[in-house]
Amino acid sequence: MPGALALARACRASSDYPAGLLAAEAAWVAAADDGQRAQAAVERVFFTFRLGQLPALLQQAPAWMPLVRAHGGDQAFETLRILALAACELGRIDQALPYAMEAHTLAEADGRPAPRAQSLMALGACFERMGDPWQAERLMRDALALAPADGPPRDRFVALNNLSAALIGAFYLLRGSGTQAEANAALARALPLAREMQTLLPLLTEPYLNVHAQGNLGEVLLHLGHAEEARSLLAAARAIAEQVPLTSQVQRVRCSMAEWALLHRQPEPARDDMLALLQEEVLMPLTRLRAHHAVYDAARQLGDAALALHHLERRTELERQRAVQQLRAQSEQFITRVEAEQSRRDADRERRRAQEMAQHALRDPLTGLGNRRELSQQLPPLLAEAQRTQRPLALVMLDLDHFKRVNDQHGHLVGDAVLVAVAQLLRQQLRNTDLLARTGGEEFLAVLPGASPARALEVCERIRAQVQAHDWSGLAPGLQVTLSAGLASAPPCEESVLMARADAALYRAKAAGRNRIELG
Ligand code: GH3
Ligand code: MG
Ligand code: MG
Repeated sequence: MPGALALARACRASSDYPAGLLAAEAAWVAAADDGQRAQAAVERVFFTFRLGQLPALLQQAPAWMPLVRAHGGDQAFETLRILALAACELGRIDQALPYAMEAHTLAEADGRPAPRAQSLMALGACFERMGDPWQAERLMRDALALAPADGPPRDRFVALNNLSAALIGAFYLLRGSGTQAEANAALARALPLAREMQTLLPLLTEPYLNVHAQGNLGEVLLHLGHAEEARSLLAAARAIAEQVPLTSQVQRVRCSMAEWALLHRQPEPARDDMLALLQEEVLMPLTRLRAHHAVYDAARQLGDAALALHHLERRTELERQRAVQQLRAQSEQFITRVEAEQSRRDADRERRRAQEMAQHALRDPLTGLGNRRELSQQLPPLLAEAQRTQRPLALVMLDLDHFKRVNDQHGHLVGDAVLVAVAQLLRQQLRNTDLLARTGGEEFLAVLPGASPARALEVCERIRAQVQAHDWSGLAPGLQVTLSAGLASAPPCEESVLMARADAALYRAKAAGRNRIELG
Protein backbone atom coordinates (compact mmCIF):
# COMPACT_ATOMS: atom_id res chain seq x y z
CA MET A 1 0.00 0.00 0.00
CA PRO A 2 1.40 3.44 -0.90
CA GLY A 3 2.68 5.48 2.05
CA ALA A 4 0.05 8.19 2.16
CA LEU A 5 -2.78 5.65 2.09
CA ALA A 6 -1.19 3.63 4.90
CA LEU A 7 -0.80 6.82 6.91
CA ALA A 8 -4.48 7.66 6.41
CA ARG A 9 -5.45 4.20 7.67
CA ALA A 10 -3.25 4.68 10.72
CA CYS A 11 -4.95 8.01 11.41
CA ARG A 12 -8.29 6.22 11.44
CA ALA A 13 -7.02 3.97 14.20
CA SER A 14 -5.72 6.91 16.25
CA SER A 15 -8.75 9.14 15.48
CA ASP A 16 -6.40 11.83 14.18
CA TYR A 17 -8.83 13.21 11.65
CA PRO A 18 -7.02 16.37 10.46
CA ALA A 19 -3.85 14.39 9.75
CA GLY A 20 -5.95 11.64 8.20
CA LEU A 21 -7.57 14.04 5.75
CA LEU A 22 -4.19 15.45 4.70
CA ALA A 23 -2.86 11.94 4.17
CA ALA A 24 -5.96 10.96 2.17
CA GLU A 25 -5.58 14.00 -0.07
CA ALA A 26 -1.92 13.21 -0.59
CA ALA A 27 -2.88 9.61 -1.43
CA TRP A 28 -5.38 10.92 -3.99
CA VAL A 29 -2.74 13.05 -5.70
CA ALA A 30 -0.19 10.24 -5.65
CA ALA A 31 -2.59 7.48 -6.78
CA ALA A 32 -1.06 5.44 -9.60
CA ASP A 33 -4.29 3.87 -10.86
CA ASP A 34 -8.06 3.88 -10.42
CA GLY A 35 -7.90 1.27 -7.66
CA GLN A 36 -5.63 3.46 -5.53
CA ARG A 37 -7.63 6.55 -6.40
CA ALA A 38 -10.81 4.80 -5.25
CA GLN A 39 -9.20 3.89 -1.93
CA ALA A 40 -7.96 7.44 -1.46
CA ALA A 41 -11.49 8.68 -2.19
CA VAL A 42 -12.87 6.35 0.47
CA GLU A 43 -10.45 7.83 3.02
CA ARG A 44 -11.21 11.40 1.96
CA VAL A 45 -14.92 10.75 2.46
CA PHE A 46 -14.30 9.22 5.87
CA PHE A 47 -12.12 12.03 7.24
CA THR A 48 -14.08 14.87 5.69
CA PHE A 49 -17.17 13.42 7.33
CA ARG A 50 -15.52 12.93 10.70
CA LEU A 51 -14.25 16.50 10.60
CA GLY A 52 -17.80 17.68 9.99
CA GLN A 53 -17.01 19.33 6.64
CA LEU A 54 -20.30 18.11 5.26
CA PRO A 55 -21.16 20.67 2.57
CA ALA A 56 -17.71 20.20 1.01
CA LEU A 57 -18.14 16.46 1.24
CA LEU A 58 -21.47 16.46 -0.59
CA GLN A 59 -20.07 18.71 -3.26
CA GLN A 60 -16.94 16.67 -3.97
CA ALA A 61 -17.98 13.09 -3.37
CA PRO A 62 -20.44 12.48 -6.24
CA ALA A 63 -17.56 12.84 -8.70
CA TRP A 64 -15.61 10.13 -6.87
CA MET A 65 -18.46 7.66 -6.58
CA PRO A 66 -18.12 5.93 -9.97
CA LEU A 67 -14.56 5.00 -8.97
CA VAL A 68 -15.62 3.89 -5.51
CA ARG A 69 -18.51 1.82 -6.85
CA ALA A 70 -16.24 0.15 -9.38
CA HIS A 71 -13.84 -0.64 -6.51
CA GLY A 72 -16.81 -2.23 -4.74
CA GLY A 73 -16.85 -4.20 -1.51
CA ASP A 74 -17.21 -3.00 2.05
CA GLN A 75 -15.54 0.30 1.24
CA ALA A 76 -18.14 1.24 -1.36
CA PHE A 77 -20.82 0.37 1.15
CA GLU A 78 -19.23 2.42 3.92
CA THR A 79 -18.79 5.41 1.63
CA LEU A 80 -22.42 5.32 0.47
CA ARG A 81 -23.56 5.11 4.06
CA ILE A 82 -21.41 8.06 5.11
CA LEU A 83 -22.72 10.16 2.24
CA ALA A 84 -26.30 9.28 3.19
CA LEU A 85 -25.63 10.36 6.77
CA ALA A 86 -23.86 13.54 5.70
CA ALA A 87 -26.71 14.51 3.38
CA CYS A 88 -29.14 13.75 6.19
CA GLU A 89 -27.26 15.94 8.63
CA LEU A 90 -27.54 18.80 6.17
CA GLY A 91 -31.22 18.14 5.62
CA ARG A 92 -30.61 17.13 1.99
CA ILE A 93 -32.97 14.17 2.01
CA ASP A 94 -33.16 14.22 -1.77
CA GLN A 95 -29.48 13.28 -1.85
CA ALA A 96 -29.51 11.15 1.28
CA LEU A 97 -32.24 8.69 0.32
CA PRO A 98 -30.69 7.42 -2.93
CA TYR A 99 -27.35 6.87 -1.16
CA ALA A 100 -29.09 5.11 1.73
CA MET A 101 -31.17 2.94 -0.61
CA GLU A 102 -28.08 1.97 -2.60
CA ALA A 103 -26.23 1.08 0.61
CA HIS A 104 -29.25 -0.89 1.80
CA THR A 105 -29.40 -2.89 -1.44
CA LEU A 106 -25.69 -3.73 -1.12
CA ALA A 107 -26.14 -4.74 2.52
CA GLU A 108 -29.13 -6.97 1.85
CA ALA A 109 -27.23 -8.69 -0.94
CA ASP A 110 -24.28 -9.12 1.42
CA GLY A 111 -26.44 -10.55 4.20
CA ARG A 112 -24.09 -9.99 7.17
CA PRO A 113 -25.86 -8.43 10.17
CA ALA A 114 -23.42 -5.54 10.68
CA PRO A 115 -23.83 -3.92 7.25
CA ARG A 116 -27.56 -4.64 7.33
CA ALA A 117 -27.84 -2.84 10.66
CA GLN A 118 -25.77 0.06 9.37
CA SER A 119 -27.86 0.48 6.25
CA LEU A 120 -31.08 0.38 8.29
CA MET A 121 -29.67 3.13 10.48
CA ALA A 122 -28.82 5.26 7.47
CA LEU A 123 -32.34 4.79 6.13
CA GLY A 124 -33.70 5.55 9.59
CA ALA A 125 -31.71 8.78 9.65
CA CYS A 126 -33.32 9.78 6.35
CA PHE A 127 -36.81 9.24 7.73
CA GLU A 128 -35.92 11.08 10.89
CA ARG A 129 -34.86 14.12 8.87
CA MET A 130 -37.95 13.75 6.72
CA GLY A 131 -39.92 14.47 9.84
CA ASP A 132 -41.02 10.88 10.38
CA PRO A 133 -39.44 9.91 13.73
CA TRP A 134 -41.81 6.96 14.10
CA GLN A 135 -40.54 5.25 10.98
CA ALA A 136 -37.01 6.21 11.99
CA GLU A 137 -37.45 4.59 15.38
CA ARG A 138 -38.80 1.42 13.79
CA LEU A 139 -35.83 1.13 11.41
CA MET A 140 -33.34 1.93 14.17
CA ARG A 141 -34.91 -0.69 16.43
CA ASP A 142 -34.58 -3.27 13.64
CA ALA A 143 -30.94 -2.23 13.41
CA LEU A 144 -30.49 -2.59 17.16
CA ALA A 145 -31.93 -6.11 16.99
CA LEU A 146 -29.20 -6.96 14.47
CA ALA A 147 -26.58 -5.79 16.99
CA PRO A 148 -27.38 -7.85 20.11
CA ALA A 149 -25.89 -7.11 23.53
CA ASP A 150 -23.65 -10.20 23.36
CA GLY A 151 -22.25 -9.22 19.96
CA PRO A 152 -19.42 -6.81 19.14
CA PRO A 153 -19.70 -3.89 21.62
CA ARG A 154 -18.94 -1.24 19.03
CA ASP A 155 -21.81 -2.38 16.77
CA ARG A 156 -24.14 -2.39 19.75
CA PHE A 157 -22.93 1.05 20.79
CA VAL A 158 -23.47 2.56 17.35
CA ALA A 159 -26.99 1.10 17.11
CA LEU A 160 -27.84 2.43 20.57
CA ASN A 161 -26.42 5.82 19.66
CA ASN A 162 -28.48 6.07 16.51
CA LEU A 163 -31.70 4.94 18.11
CA SER A 164 -31.30 7.28 21.07
CA ALA A 165 -30.34 10.17 18.77
CA ALA A 166 -33.47 9.50 16.70
CA LEU A 167 -35.56 9.62 19.84
CA ILE A 168 -33.91 12.86 20.97
CA GLY A 169 -34.63 14.24 17.50
CA ALA A 170 -38.26 13.16 17.91
CA PHE A 171 -38.32 15.08 21.18
CA TYR A 172 -37.20 18.32 19.51
CA LEU A 173 -39.70 17.78 16.73
CA LEU A 174 -42.58 17.20 19.11
CA ARG A 175 -41.83 19.62 21.94
CA GLY A 176 -43.72 22.87 21.97
CA SER A 177 -46.19 21.58 19.39
CA GLY A 178 -48.90 20.62 21.85
CA THR A 179 -47.64 17.05 22.14
CA GLN A 180 -45.41 17.48 25.16
CA ALA A 181 -46.43 14.09 26.61
CA GLU A 182 -45.41 12.34 23.41
CA ALA A 183 -42.17 14.34 23.32
CA ASN A 184 -41.35 13.26 26.88
CA ALA A 185 -42.25 9.66 26.11
CA ALA A 186 -39.64 9.69 23.34
CA LEU A 187 -37.04 10.89 25.84
CA ALA A 188 -38.08 8.22 28.32
CA ARG A 189 -37.48 5.58 25.64
CA ALA A 190 -34.07 7.10 24.92
CA LEU A 191 -32.91 7.05 28.56
CA PRO A 192 -32.17 3.31 29.00
CA LEU A 193 -30.43 3.30 25.61
CA ALA A 194 -28.20 6.23 26.56
CA ARG A 195 -27.42 4.53 29.86
CA GLU A 196 -26.48 1.29 28.11
CA MET A 197 -24.10 3.28 25.92
CA GLN A 198 -22.27 4.39 29.06
CA THR A 199 -21.77 0.79 30.17
CA LEU A 200 -20.14 -0.05 26.82
CA LEU A 201 -17.64 2.82 26.90
CA PRO A 202 -14.90 0.94 28.81
CA LEU A 203 -14.86 -1.61 25.97
CA LEU A 204 -14.31 1.04 23.30
CA THR A 205 -11.30 3.16 22.49
CA GLU A 206 -12.31 5.82 19.99
CA PRO A 207 -12.71 9.17 21.75
CA TYR A 208 -15.57 10.39 19.57
CA LEU A 209 -17.74 7.57 20.89
CA ASN A 210 -17.35 9.19 24.30
CA VAL A 211 -18.71 12.42 22.94
CA HIS A 212 -21.82 10.67 21.68
CA ALA A 213 -22.30 8.69 24.87
CA GLN A 214 -21.99 11.68 27.22
CA GLY A 215 -23.75 14.03 24.81
CA ASN A 216 -26.81 11.82 24.37
CA LEU A 217 -27.23 10.97 28.01
CA GLY A 218 -26.58 14.58 28.98
CA GLU A 219 -29.21 15.82 26.57
CA VAL A 220 -31.79 13.24 27.68
CA LEU A 221 -31.23 13.96 31.37
CA LEU A 222 -31.32 17.72 30.80
CA HIS A 223 -34.75 17.58 29.21
CA LEU A 224 -36.03 15.04 31.70
CA GLY A 225 -35.14 17.50 34.48
CA HIS A 226 -32.00 15.85 35.90
CA ALA A 227 -30.04 19.02 35.36
CA GLU A 228 -27.04 18.41 37.61
CA GLU A 229 -26.12 14.99 36.22
CA ALA A 230 -26.71 16.42 32.77
CA ARG A 231 -24.31 19.32 33.30
CA SER A 232 -21.25 17.23 34.12
CA LEU A 233 -21.90 14.86 31.22
CA LEU A 234 -22.30 17.73 28.78
CA ALA A 235 -19.12 19.39 30.03
CA ALA A 236 -17.22 16.12 29.53
CA ALA A 237 -18.69 15.67 26.05
CA ARG A 238 -17.71 19.21 25.09
CA ALA A 239 -14.15 18.83 26.33
CA ILE A 240 -13.56 15.70 24.27
CA ALA A 241 -15.39 17.04 21.22
CA GLU A 242 -13.19 20.15 21.26
CA GLN A 243 -10.10 18.05 21.56
CA VAL A 244 -10.82 15.68 18.65
CA PRO A 245 -12.20 18.11 17.21
CA LEU A 246 -15.80 17.31 16.35
CA THR A 247 -17.21 20.66 15.38
CA SER A 248 -20.83 19.58 14.94
CA GLN A 249 -20.83 17.80 18.29
CA VAL A 250 -19.30 20.82 20.03
CA GLN A 251 -22.07 22.95 18.54
CA ARG A 252 -24.72 20.49 19.62
CA VAL A 253 -23.39 20.35 23.19
CA ARG A 254 -23.19 24.17 23.31
CA CYS A 255 -26.92 24.28 22.55
CA SER A 256 -27.60 21.82 25.33
CA MET A 257 -25.52 23.89 27.73
CA ALA A 258 -27.37 27.05 26.76
CA GLU A 259 -30.64 25.26 27.44
CA TRP A 260 -29.24 24.19 30.79
CA ALA A 261 -28.36 27.81 31.57
CA LEU A 262 -31.83 28.99 30.56
CA LEU A 263 -33.36 26.37 32.83
CA HIS A 264 -31.29 27.90 35.63
CA ARG A 265 -32.26 31.46 34.78
CA GLN A 266 -28.89 32.42 33.38
CA PRO A 267 -30.02 34.07 30.13
CA GLU A 268 -26.95 36.23 29.44
CA PRO A 269 -24.32 33.52 28.91
CA ALA A 270 -26.89 31.45 26.99
CA ARG A 271 -27.74 34.36 24.70
CA ASP A 272 -24.10 35.34 24.11
CA ASP A 273 -22.92 31.85 23.32
CA MET A 274 -25.88 31.12 21.03
CA LEU A 275 -25.40 34.40 19.15
CA ALA A 276 -21.75 33.46 18.69
CA LEU A 277 -22.77 29.98 17.56
CA LEU A 278 -25.13 31.43 14.95
CA GLN A 279 -22.16 33.27 13.45
CA GLU A 280 -20.41 30.01 12.63
CA GLU A 281 -20.13 29.18 8.98
CA VAL A 282 -21.32 25.58 9.11
CA LEU A 283 -24.16 24.61 11.40
CA MET A 284 -26.48 21.60 11.29
CA PRO A 285 -30.08 22.61 10.56
CA LEU A 286 -31.33 21.13 13.83
CA THR A 287 -28.58 22.88 15.80
CA ARG A 288 -29.37 26.20 14.13
CA LEU A 289 -33.02 25.77 15.05
CA ARG A 290 -32.12 25.02 18.64
CA ALA A 291 -29.80 28.05 18.78
CA HIS A 292 -32.53 30.42 17.56
CA HIS A 293 -34.92 28.84 20.02
CA ALA A 294 -32.43 29.39 22.87
CA VAL A 295 -31.77 33.04 21.94
CA TYR A 296 -35.52 33.59 21.78
CA ASP A 297 -35.94 32.08 25.27
CA ALA A 298 -32.99 34.08 26.62
CA ALA A 299 -34.32 37.33 25.14
CA ARG A 300 -37.71 36.68 26.70
CA GLN A 301 -36.14 36.10 30.08
CA LEU A 302 -34.21 39.36 29.61
CA GLY A 303 -37.29 41.26 28.44
CA ASP A 304 -35.62 42.03 25.08
CA ALA A 305 -38.70 41.91 22.87
CA ALA A 306 -36.95 42.97 19.66
CA LEU A 307 -34.31 40.24 19.96
CA ALA A 308 -36.93 37.64 20.92
CA LEU A 309 -39.08 38.53 17.92
CA HIS A 310 -36.16 38.47 15.51
CA HIS A 311 -35.11 34.94 16.56
CA LEU A 312 -38.65 33.67 16.74
CA GLU A 313 -39.09 34.82 13.16
CA ARG A 314 -35.83 33.22 12.06
CA ARG A 315 -36.82 30.01 13.78
CA THR A 316 -40.27 29.97 12.20
CA GLU A 317 -38.76 30.64 8.80
CA LEU A 318 -36.28 27.77 9.21
CA GLU A 319 -39.01 25.45 10.40
CA ARG A 320 -41.11 26.32 7.40
CA GLN A 321 -38.15 25.70 5.09
CA ARG A 322 -37.59 22.38 6.77
CA ALA A 323 -41.24 21.43 6.44
CA VAL A 324 -41.21 22.28 2.73
CA GLN A 325 -38.03 20.27 2.24
CA GLN A 326 -39.54 17.33 4.07
CA LEU A 327 -42.69 17.47 2.02
CA ARG A 328 -40.71 17.62 -1.20
CA ALA A 329 -38.51 14.72 -0.12
CA GLN A 330 -41.53 12.69 0.88
CA SER A 331 -43.28 13.27 -2.39
CA GLU A 332 -40.09 12.57 -4.34
CA GLN A 333 -39.69 9.37 -2.42
CA PHE A 334 -43.27 8.46 -3.24
CA ILE A 335 -42.72 9.19 -6.91
CA THR A 336 -39.49 7.21 -6.94
CA ARG A 337 -41.37 4.27 -5.50
CA VAL A 338 -44.14 4.59 -8.08
CA GLU A 339 -41.58 4.87 -10.86
CA ALA A 340 -39.65 1.89 -9.58
CA GLU A 341 -42.89 -0.11 -9.54
CA GLN A 342 -43.69 1.05 -13.06
CA SER A 343 -40.27 0.14 -14.43
CA ARG A 344 -40.45 -3.24 -12.71
CA ARG A 345 -43.74 -3.90 -14.50
CA ASP A 346 -42.26 -2.74 -17.80
CA ALA A 347 -39.30 -5.04 -17.31
CA ASP A 348 -41.62 -7.97 -16.57
CA ARG A 349 -43.64 -7.31 -19.70
CA GLU A 350 -40.49 -6.98 -21.78
CA ARG A 351 -39.16 -10.25 -20.41
CA ARG A 352 -42.40 -12.06 -21.19
CA ARG A 353 -42.41 -10.66 -24.70
CA ALA A 354 -38.81 -11.74 -25.26
CA GLN A 355 -39.71 -15.21 -24.00
CA GLU A 356 -42.64 -15.37 -26.38
CA MET A 357 -40.48 -14.20 -29.25
CA ALA A 358 -37.89 -16.83 -28.45
CA GLN A 359 -40.67 -19.42 -28.32
CA HIS A 360 -42.00 -18.27 -31.68
CA ALA A 361 -38.61 -18.56 -33.24
CA LEU A 362 -38.64 -22.24 -32.27
CA ARG A 363 -42.28 -23.01 -33.21
CA ASP A 364 -44.01 -23.77 -36.45
CA PRO A 365 -47.02 -21.42 -36.45
CA LEU A 366 -49.33 -23.73 -38.45
CA THR A 367 -49.08 -26.89 -36.36
CA GLY A 368 -47.58 -25.56 -33.12
CA LEU A 369 -44.85 -28.20 -33.34
CA GLY A 370 -41.20 -27.38 -32.92
CA ASN A 371 -39.35 -26.40 -36.09
CA ARG A 372 -35.92 -27.24 -37.40
CA ARG A 373 -34.29 -24.73 -35.06
CA GLU A 374 -35.82 -26.36 -32.03
CA LEU A 375 -34.81 -29.74 -33.33
CA SER A 376 -31.22 -28.57 -33.73
CA GLN A 377 -31.26 -27.42 -30.09
CA GLN A 378 -32.89 -30.48 -28.59
CA LEU A 379 -31.57 -33.39 -30.60
CA PRO A 380 -27.86 -33.19 -29.59
CA PRO A 381 -28.53 -33.51 -25.83
CA LEU A 382 -30.85 -36.50 -26.47
CA LEU A 383 -28.14 -38.20 -28.51
CA ALA A 384 -25.51 -37.43 -25.89
CA GLU A 385 -27.78 -38.87 -23.20
CA ALA A 386 -28.35 -42.06 -25.26
CA GLN A 387 -24.61 -42.35 -25.75
CA ARG A 388 -23.93 -41.84 -22.05
CA THR A 389 -26.59 -44.29 -20.83
CA GLN A 390 -26.17 -46.78 -23.67
CA ARG A 391 -29.91 -46.79 -24.12
CA PRO A 392 -31.48 -47.16 -27.58
CA LEU A 393 -32.99 -44.23 -29.46
CA ALA A 394 -35.08 -44.15 -32.64
CA LEU A 395 -35.17 -41.37 -35.21
CA VAL A 396 -38.08 -41.33 -37.68
CA MET A 397 -38.63 -39.20 -40.78
CA LEU A 398 -42.27 -39.03 -41.85
CA ASP A 399 -43.53 -37.61 -45.12
CA LEU A 400 -47.10 -37.38 -46.38
CA ASP A 401 -47.75 -39.26 -49.58
CA HIS A 402 -48.63 -37.39 -52.74
CA PHE A 403 -49.37 -34.31 -50.78
CA LYS A 404 -49.10 -32.17 -53.84
CA ARG A 405 -52.17 -33.96 -55.11
CA VAL A 406 -54.06 -33.22 -51.90
CA ASN A 407 -53.41 -29.53 -52.47
CA ASP A 408 -54.20 -29.76 -56.13
CA GLN A 409 -57.48 -31.64 -55.69
CA HIS A 410 -58.82 -30.05 -52.49
CA GLY A 411 -57.08 -26.74 -52.22
CA HIS A 412 -54.30 -25.37 -50.05
CA LEU A 413 -56.57 -24.72 -47.07
CA VAL A 414 -57.56 -28.36 -46.89
CA GLY A 415 -53.86 -29.23 -47.23
CA ASP A 416 -53.16 -26.99 -44.21
CA ALA A 417 -55.94 -28.62 -42.20
CA VAL A 418 -54.49 -32.05 -43.01
CA LEU A 419 -51.07 -30.93 -41.75
CA VAL A 420 -52.63 -29.69 -38.50
CA ALA A 421 -54.57 -32.92 -38.03
CA VAL A 422 -51.55 -35.12 -38.73
CA ALA A 423 -49.48 -33.07 -36.28
CA GLN A 424 -52.12 -33.60 -33.61
CA LEU A 425 -52.28 -37.31 -34.31
CA LEU A 426 -48.52 -37.62 -34.10
CA ARG A 427 -48.52 -35.76 -30.80
CA GLN A 428 -51.14 -38.14 -29.42
CA GLN A 429 -49.21 -41.22 -30.45
CA LEU A 430 -45.89 -40.06 -29.05
CA ARG A 431 -44.80 -39.59 -25.46
CA ASN A 432 -44.05 -36.26 -23.85
CA THR A 433 -40.40 -37.20 -23.67
CA ASP A 434 -40.29 -37.84 -27.43
CA LEU A 435 -39.17 -35.05 -29.70
CA LEU A 436 -41.45 -34.08 -32.58
CA ALA A 437 -40.82 -31.40 -35.18
CA ARG A 438 -42.14 -30.22 -38.49
CA THR A 439 -39.00 -30.17 -40.55
CA GLY A 440 -40.45 -29.19 -43.91
CA GLY A 441 -43.71 -28.62 -45.79
CA GLU A 442 -45.24 -32.06 -45.28
CA GLU A 443 -42.32 -33.64 -43.47
CA PHE A 444 -42.03 -34.44 -39.79
CA LEU A 445 -39.30 -35.83 -37.65
CA ALA A 446 -39.79 -37.81 -34.44
CA VAL A 447 -37.11 -38.87 -31.98
CA LEU A 448 -37.99 -41.59 -29.47
CA PRO A 449 -35.38 -41.88 -26.71
CA GLY A 450 -35.29 -45.30 -25.08
CA ALA A 451 -37.26 -46.98 -27.90
CA SER A 452 -35.78 -50.16 -29.30
CA PRO A 453 -36.04 -50.64 -33.09
CA ALA A 454 -38.92 -53.10 -32.61
CA ARG A 455 -40.79 -50.77 -30.32
CA ALA A 456 -40.21 -47.78 -32.64
CA LEU A 457 -41.47 -49.79 -35.57
CA GLU A 458 -44.61 -50.65 -33.62
CA VAL A 459 -45.24 -46.96 -32.86
CA CYS A 460 -44.64 -45.94 -36.49
CA GLU A 461 -46.89 -48.68 -37.78
CA ARG A 462 -49.68 -47.55 -35.46
CA ILE A 463 -49.28 -43.97 -36.66
CA ARG A 464 -49.32 -45.02 -40.29
CA ALA A 465 -52.46 -47.14 -39.77
CA GLN A 466 -54.24 -44.35 -37.88
CA VAL A 467 -53.53 -41.75 -40.54
CA GLN A 468 -54.82 -44.08 -43.21
CA ALA A 469 -57.90 -45.07 -41.17
CA HIS A 470 -58.74 -41.53 -40.13
CA ASP A 471 -62.03 -40.20 -41.44
CA TRP A 472 -60.75 -37.37 -43.65
CA SER A 473 -64.09 -36.82 -45.40
CA GLY A 474 -64.96 -34.17 -42.84
CA LEU A 475 -62.27 -31.95 -44.41
CA ALA A 476 -63.15 -32.79 -48.00
CA PRO A 477 -65.35 -35.48 -49.53
CA GLY A 478 -63.29 -38.35 -50.87
CA LEU A 479 -60.08 -37.09 -49.19
CA GLN A 480 -57.56 -39.80 -48.42
CA VAL A 481 -54.28 -39.31 -46.61
CA THR A 482 -51.37 -41.67 -46.03
CA LEU A 483 -47.78 -41.25 -45.00
CA SER A 484 -44.49 -43.03 -45.34
CA ALA A 485 -41.67 -43.16 -42.83
CA GLY A 486 -38.01 -44.08 -42.61
CA LEU A 487 -36.72 -45.31 -39.27
CA ALA A 488 -33.13 -45.29 -38.03
CA SER A 489 -31.95 -46.57 -34.66
CA ALA A 490 -29.08 -45.57 -32.42
CA PRO A 491 -26.40 -46.64 -31.79
CA PRO A 492 -24.52 -45.12 -33.44
CA CYS A 493 -25.52 -41.89 -31.74
CA GLU A 494 -24.37 -39.60 -34.49
CA GLU A 495 -26.91 -37.20 -35.85
CA SER A 496 -25.66 -37.15 -39.45
CA VAL A 497 -25.54 -40.95 -39.66
CA LEU A 498 -29.05 -41.36 -38.23
CA MET A 499 -30.46 -38.65 -40.50
CA ALA A 500 -28.91 -40.20 -43.60
CA ARG A 501 -30.20 -43.63 -42.71
CA ALA A 502 -33.73 -42.43 -41.98
CA ASP A 503 -33.73 -40.42 -45.19
CA ALA A 504 -32.61 -43.42 -47.23
CA ALA A 505 -35.26 -45.60 -45.56
CA LEU A 506 -37.93 -43.04 -46.32
CA TYR A 507 -36.84 -42.93 -49.92
CA ARG A 508 -37.16 -46.71 -50.07
CA ALA A 509 -40.65 -46.54 -48.53
CA LYS A 510 -41.71 -44.11 -51.21
CA ALA A 511 -40.13 -46.20 -53.95
CA ALA A 512 -41.78 -49.34 -52.63
CA GLY A 513 -45.23 -47.84 -53.11
CA ARG A 514 -45.74 -45.44 -50.14
CA ASN A 515 -47.98 -45.86 -47.08
CA ARG A 516 -45.30 -47.91 -45.38
CA ILE A 517 -42.41 -47.87 -42.90
CA GLU A 518 -38.88 -48.88 -43.80
CA LEU A 519 -35.98 -49.53 -41.43
CA GLY A 520 -32.66 -47.78 -42.12
P1 GH3 B 1 -44.37 -37.75 -52.10
O1 GH3 B 1 -45.37 -38.77 -51.77
O2 GH3 B 1 -43.30 -38.17 -52.97
O3 GH3 B 1 -43.83 -37.11 -50.84
O4 GH3 B 1 -45.15 -36.64 -52.90
P2 GH3 B 1 -45.53 -35.22 -52.40
O5 GH3 B 1 -46.48 -34.56 -53.34
O6 GH3 B 1 -46.03 -35.27 -51.00
O7 GH3 B 1 -44.14 -34.50 -52.37
P3 GH3 B 1 -43.61 -33.16 -52.98
O8 GH3 B 1 -42.36 -32.84 -52.23
O9 GH3 B 1 -43.54 -33.25 -54.44
O10 GH3 B 1 -44.69 -32.09 -52.64
C1 GH3 B 1 -44.89 -31.61 -51.34
C2 GH3 B 1 -46.03 -30.67 -51.37
O11 GH3 B 1 -46.41 -30.24 -50.09
C3 GH3 B 1 -45.75 -29.47 -52.18
C4 GH3 B 1 -46.37 -28.33 -51.41
O12 GH3 B 1 -47.36 -27.66 -52.15
C5 GH3 B 1 -47.02 -28.98 -50.23
N1 GH3 B 1 -46.84 -28.19 -49.07
C6 GH3 B 1 -45.68 -27.87 -48.45
N2 GH3 B 1 -45.91 -27.09 -47.39
C7 GH3 B 1 -47.25 -26.90 -47.30
C8 GH3 B 1 -48.09 -26.18 -46.43
O13 GH3 B 1 -47.68 -25.55 -45.47
N3 GH3 B 1 -49.43 -26.22 -46.64
C9 GH3 B 1 -49.93 -26.91 -47.70
N4 GH3 B 1 -51.24 -26.92 -47.87
N5 GH3 B 1 -49.17 -27.59 -48.54
C10 GH3 B 1 -47.83 -27.60 -48.36
MG1 MG C 1 -44.61 -35.90 -49.57
MG1 MG D 1 -41.75 -34.13 -49.05
